Amino acid sequence: MYDVIIIGSGPAGLTAAIYTSRARLRTLVIGGITWGGQLMLTSEVENFPGFPDGILGSDLMTRMRKQAEKFNAKFLFEDVTSADFSSHPFRINVHEKSFEAKAVIIATGALYKWLGLDAERRLTGRGVSFCATCDAPFFRDKKVIVVGGGDTAMDEALTLAKYAKEVIIVHRRDKLRASKILQERVFTDIKIKIMWNNLVEDILGMDRVKGVKLKNVQTGKSITFPCDGVFIAIGLKPNTEMFKGQLNLDENGYIIVYEGTKTNVEGVFAAGDNQDAKYKQAITSAGEGCKAALDAERYLQEHPS
Ligand code: NDP
Repeated sequence: MYDVIIIGSGPAGLTAAIYTSRARLRTLVIGGITWGGQLMLTSEVENFPGFPDGILGSDLMTRMRKQAEKFNAKFLFEDVTSADFSSHPFRINVHEKSFEAKAVIIATGALYKWLGLDAERRLTGRGVSFCATCDAPFFRDKKVIVVGGGDTAMDEALTLAKYAKEVIIVHRRDKLRASKILQERVFTDIKIKIMWNNLVEDILGMDRVKGVKLKNVQTGKSITFPCDGVFIAIGLKPNTEMFKGQLNLDENGYIIVYEGTKTNVEGVFAAGDNQDAKYKQAITSAGEGCKAALDAERYLQEHPS
């Protein structure tokens, strides 16, 4: 029996683990087969306080993990298959293994959104990618498109511009959603162009991306646009599917929290991108993880058995 089980090992989960284990609560982090969350796919993190020269996303996560281990948090790097919050202690299942906890912190983060095209699945890893940091070097001197108009799309385009011959951002509107600073960097990068008011209707190529079919939403006209790669950066979907029916979720699947990090089930808390559709930063996730740990600690003081 654990005092706290933390599901997820991104900034929210690991910060929660540092706090609960330092508070001498028996803590198990079930961190997923691919641990560390989205920062493991990011290169340089420039805006996490305390690192004036920046830090690699993976280094930041490794440091957080070490810090939690130092206080004796236990880790299991497997995916949770189901959770049962209908009775106390709560039960978290990982295939045939089952773990009990008096309190649970859910820090499962969010996953990339897909365009919903058949070609996307066929061509992922064959020219379609969701991570420029991981795949940009494969597109040296090539022509690539980035789909989306938010900060992620700008980041992806700027990373790709270091390698590719030409980067074209395809955006469905005539205005970017991204922050001013990233917009400025994109506008001044001579390798990056923007195609406004366009939707990707299809990705062309059987075993390798050959191009895309674009539809201009103003004229209604479609064109074939040759390119070697397609980077999809259209946002995230919260990783909350398995809690449907037990926890209150909003229409986009985000966990609804009350008074800080409490969910509708007493003793179950949520932190990070699975409950935050607005800020979605490593630092805000870490802050939420801290809050969830303090809320869990308080709950356990009030419900010791
Ligand atoms: P956002 O939700 O901010 O942006 C998604 C973009 O994709 C929007 O421009 C949207 O268009 C477009 N889009 C959505 N669905 C589709 C679709 N089906 N077809 C075409 N286009 C589509 O997501 P991000 O991942 O960019 O950012 C998430 C959060 O993370 C934000 O809060 C952002 O600030 C933050 N972030 C911060 C970074 C930094 O500070 N360095 C880096 C990366 C992310 P439309 O605008 O028309 O809705």
